[in-house]
Amino acid sequence: MLKISASATPGLSLSALARALVITVLLFQSALSLAKSESLDPPANPAAYQWDFSMIYASWEAWEAGMAEMKGKVSEYVALKGTLEQGPAAILKAYQLSDEIGRLSYLTYRYPGLQRDIDQRDQSISGRFQQVQAAFAQMDTSTAWFTPELLLIPEQKMIQWIDTTPALAPYRYPILDTYRQKAHVLDETGERLLSYSGQFKRTPSAIYEALSTADIDFPEVTLTTGETLRMTSGAYRRTLETAREQADRQAAFEAHYGTYAATKNTYAAIYNSILQRDWYDARSRDYPSTLASSLDSDAVPLVVYTNLVQAVRAGTEPLKRYQTLRKKILKLDEYHLYDDALPLLDAAVDYPYAQAREMVVDSVLPLGTAYQTQLRDFLNSRAVDVYESAGKRSGAYVAGVYGVGPYMLLNYNDTLDAVFTLAHESGHAMHTNLSYANQPFATASYTIFVAEVASTTNERFLLEKLLNESDNPAERFLLLQKAIENIAGTFYAQVSFADYELQAHQRAEQGEPITAEVLTTICRDISRAYQSKEVTEDALYDNLWARIPHFYNSPYYVYKYATCFASSAALYNAMTTGTEAEQAAAKERYLTLLRSGGDDLPMAQLKKAGVDLSKPEAIQAVIQQMDDLVSRLEVEAVNLGLIAAVDVTPDS
Ligand SMILES: [Zn+2]
Repeated sequence: MLKISASATPGLSLSALARALVITVLLFQSALSLAKSESLDPPANPAAYQWDFSMIYASWEAWEAGMAEMKGKVSEYVALKGTLEQGPAAILKAYQLSDEIGRLSYLTYRYPGLQRDIDQRDQSISGRFQQVQAAFAQMDTSTAWFTPELLLIPEQKMIQWIDTTPALAPYRYPILDTYRQKAHVLDETGERLLSYSGQFKRTPSAIYEALSTADIDFPEVTLTTGETLRMTSGAYRRTLETAREQADRQAAFEAHYGTYAATKNTYAAIYNSILQRDWYDARSRDYPSTLASSLDSDAVPLVVYTNLVQAVRAGTEPLKRYQTLRKKILKLDEYHLYDDALPLLDAAVDYPYAQAREMVVDSVLPLGTAYQTQLRDFLNSRAVDVYESAGKRSGAYVAGVYGVGPYMLLNYNDTLDAVFTLAHESGHAMHTNLSYANQPFATASYTIFVAEVASTTNERFLLEKLLNESDNPAERFLLLQKAIENIAGTFYAQVSFADYELQAHQRAEQGEPITAEVLTTICRDISRAYQSKEVTEDALYDNLWARIPHFYNSPYYVYKYATCFASSAALYNAMTTGTEAEQAAAKERYLTLLRSGGDDLPMAQLKKAGVDLSKPEAIQAVIQQMDDLVSRLEVEAVNLGLIAAVDVTPDS
């Protein structure tokens, strides 16, 4: 059936698919590459740069027929209750029917879902999208019987059935993975009770969303330029990235963070309900901790998480060196965290989409001409929605439709960031393509744990190619800065968040009070461990915990950005160093990883590709990479006359 790692619930449920579909959309947005609104060259033939939905359904009538068919199959599925013990044929029937429902789920969910993202103003599309969501919620309860009933069959007997039934081969991994989590599956009554709480348990994040988006009221700030801005998240980010006057960045920061701080007790109460919910889930399924419960869906050993947090805390030196260098280049008397986003050099280069597409396609040549050709064909197809348009959602993502292929959403705006976002999403699209081409439905969905490996590897190929080819010191400087900020944002920041989540959850598990002050103190301690001594502290920053949606929407998720980044760094090193034969072997292992979809536990998949995350080496490699990049940036800064000389005094 459907192996979905994003779900904390062990075993199988169709609604897990629904959640996974939603999560896929959320998470495939590049966390750091939020589109800016800038001028665009309108394409001569706009339709060629817009999605064609007819690859999914020809019309809304066809979609409605698909919905009816899906509901009919769910009823058939419910009728199988009580039959599983009859033998392998009954098991096979249930799994095959589940696959059919799963395929229909992709089609019926994506057809309105993608259209909604292109025009969020269209109420009729939103209404249809809600219809699918309601149907998925219904499936949750209708399918809760399956896993407990399956697990009544002894594991040895099940293995024997699989061994003697060739048609069950595609389901071997999903079935055995269900047995792996058997100790945490309740009886049918227990599972049904838990399924009733599903809607209720989503409430804390819904309250958070209402408070932090619909009800939030950011104040207006008048900058020294005379411009008055309401300090929403977008305006705040833009101000930090563009305001050359430090006083403007400070005013933006105080207005934006101050808004969260003003209702911090409410945020703390909401966050406490998240922690209590996670602890309830963990205990009801007999896990010793929320972390153990969360990591078990991917069978990730606890040591991977705790090593990551410890190794990165011990390896913050290059990050601190970078902040110190920034302070010097920006010639600031006091350096604050709100100075972290200001570019060190103004970018003058524009990259029109056609050029960016060629750059990205060229950069993947090391992965072979077959990979390259497939990517070029995809980027030239109408499965890519390129430009910003009225009502279109922001950001970028790839959403797979099994049987059809990946769809890529961009908000391309000619910046270097946008080029890297294209490389990132291209990695996801090719992962989806290769997985769909080589895996049956049952194992075609890859976990987040390997997903961001594919995307960050493609970003790395692009970066190194551009760095190698550029003879312009300013461009090299910008590329190095981009690479450094990528590690700062994707690796260091996410691990500091993971550190926070673990500490907060542990306090709840120990029955300690969770108040705004407690959460603020955790954030302050982490911040001190990560920041250079050159950074002037701002107490308001310690309210960070109130403004990171991931903490409320998907606890214990962000560490995966860091482990993916580390895996990708290790794989990139293997593919580009050593003898030609060694590199070729590493590339083949990497492509095998992409083709393997979700056919095994993610840690096992990565191990086959040559990465062992339970060892500190992969983490150390990123810290070393950061150190090298900062050193190279220092050299370029001297070349450009931004600083007088490279500073060799350590910063700790
Ligand atoms: Zn991604």
